[in-house]
Amino acid sequence: MLRVDSLTKSFGSQTILHDISLSLEDGETTVILGPSGSGKSTLLRCLNLLETPESGSLTIEGDTVEFGGKLSDDQVRTMRQHSAMVFQQFNLFPNYTALKNVALAPVLNGKMGKAQADQLARDLLVKVGLEHRIDSYPEHLSGGQQQRVAIARALAVSPDYLLFDEPTSALDPELEAEVIKVLVDLARERRSLVVVTHNMAFAQKVADRIIFLDGGQVTYNGAPSGFFSSDDERIRKFLNVYE
Ligand code: ADP
Ligand code: MG
Repeated sequence: MLRVDSLTKSFGSQTILHDISLSLEDGETTVILGPSGSGKSTLLRCLNLLETPESGSLTIEGDTVEFGGKLSDDQVRTMRQHSAMVFQQFNLFPNYTALKNVALAPVLNGKMGKAQADQLARDLLVKVGLEHRIDSYPEHLSGGQQQRVAIARALAVSPDYLLFDEPTSALDPELEAEVIKVLVDLARERRSLVVVTHNMAFAQKVADRIIFLDGGQVTYNGAPSGFFSSDDERIRKFLNVYE
């Protein structure tokens, strides 16, 4: 389980996330929706401690951090083991092959030797449909292929929660489809996914839960059916853009 209690995050004098509380079940796909600037990326980054909130707490799989003071390196390491992030801009290492991009983290974090990590990386690249691209460098891969390498890389560290920040926003529609297919496969395997996306078809068909952020507050948290049929004015205004 992933739980956030009364989480507040500011940049300077501007409060970006106001007293956020939510609880996600393992094996579910949660889609975070909301207007640009509503705090979606900041919330996701807080879950992976890429940002440090001022107050509140975060619990993932029984490990808890309370925000307010400085977190120890140990606390950060422990919490980060529970999740892995996939970014809009892929963020692959340009000077490494697909295989090495995926195999690197499990070796660096001491979980595996090189041979075992290479085998895992091969398996994961096959899983995301890149068996013919294992030895390619990022610059020779399409955006959709690079993003699938990034997903394999996230899977390689065996996270409990996979966090995706607009994973298809940099992609043309046909490349978006191949990345969405990988996400759908992961959802069907009942991986725990938290996905910020503007892909409403994915949100409607695949999500178990929709969280709507508006001005740094959660104003909807529940089933997709209730969200897409909501008569809340802000939600209707948000959805109208996609219709
Ligand atoms: P979203 O992902 O929903 O578009 P963000 O979480 O990126 O929203 O941003 C929410 C608000 O926080 C915006 O007003 C943005 O300008 C501000 N913000 C985000 N990151 C920073 C930062 N590192 N420093 C200052 N302000 C930031
Ligand atoms: Mg964002």
